[in-house]
Amino acid sequence: MASDEVISPAPREDDSQFDEQIRPQWLDEFPGQEALKEKLRIAIAAAKQRREPLDHMLLSGPPGLGKTTLARIMANEMGVDIRATSGPVIERQADLSAILTSLEDFDVFFIDEIHRLNHAVEETLYSAMEDFEVDIMLGKGPTARSMKIGLKPFTLVGATTRAGLLTPPLRARFGDTCRLDFYSPEELETIVMRSARIMDLQIDPEAALEIAARARGTARIANRLLRRVRDYAQVKGDGYVTHEMAGKGLDMLGVDGLGLDDMDKSILTTVIQKFSGGPVGLGSLAVAVGEERLTLEEVHEPYLIQIGFIKRTQQGRVATPLAYKHLHLAPPAAGQGELL
Ligand code: ADP
Repeated sequence: MASDEVISPAPREDDSQFDEQIRPQWLDEFPGQEALKEKLRIAIAAAKQRREPLDHMLLSGPPGLGKTTLARIMANEMGVDIRATSGPVIERQADLSAILTSLEDFDVFFIDEIHRLNHAVEETLYSAMEDFEVDIMLGKGPTARSMKIGLKPFTLVGATTRAGLLTPPLRARFGDTCRLDFYSPEELETIVMRSARIMDLQIDPEAALEIAARARGTARIANRLLRRVRDYAQVKGDGYVTHEMAGKGLDMLGVDGLGLDDMDKSILTTVIQKFSGGPVGLGSLAVAVGEERLTLEEVHEPYLIQIGFIKRTQQGRVATPLAYKHLHLAPPAAGQGELL
């Protein structure tokens, strides 16, 4: 039987407790992602009026933008329970069937990292999503036979950082596919102010905006930075988070004005100094900076691309003039490396 688990990029244990406290529970408490929220509001109202489950929905986007949170909100707004698990955790068809047969009417079944489901499990999901039924094997060996079991109508919410890796048949079974965008600094400021209120922390709006500006467009990072800045203000001051306190705390954490952390900077300097600005393949880059290829691709690269510091080309990753400028490095002379 698969354990219920939601996998997300390595928050510390106390971070995950804190995450739970500040996680928005309702659409109205969730700042940002306006277009997506509007779509959800309509879908939820329509499903409730028709007394039907919500359509299956695929949420894609980099980690920490709120996919899991939105799945939980969908369940709350529909007044149903949620079962949460993750692609790699469901190893066997029987694990999946056990969860599916335990779902009640209109429940939300959330699968994080849905692109990492194995093939056999994924196939079982097809008929569950389409016809609300699963094939269950009874007995073993030559006398084994399969039996169809009807399921209660449910809503599958899949989350993925890599929508491109979903197989076409699985993708086709989702009624809707939504991409979450990076948050603007103003949206992140609202998120930081909201979290501070829940934590009973006094903070100047300028300090919240400073944290927001350095949070790489990501809600999870904004909340994490807020927590570290709170520690800093408590130890170095009287606990009140002023703009100056936030700036100093963030500098101490090695988070620069654009929110780049040590690994981001290491990626950029490696492309520029070891590979003459690129192009360099992701595999070589991963080895050079000592990080997993997947982490580079899913966690670090999307933001570096979004702020225009890295370009993906057919030949590999290339550092742009903006990256040289940010790191105070001289761009290569003409003919050396490739400038875009
Ligand atoms: P994902 O599933 O996309 O990796 P999560 O839903 O787990 O992201 O969100 C990560 C953290 O960020 C959670 O603590 C959540 O409470 C917070 N968070 C995400 N989106 C928002 C938002 N719009 N407003 C406030 N907090 C948010």
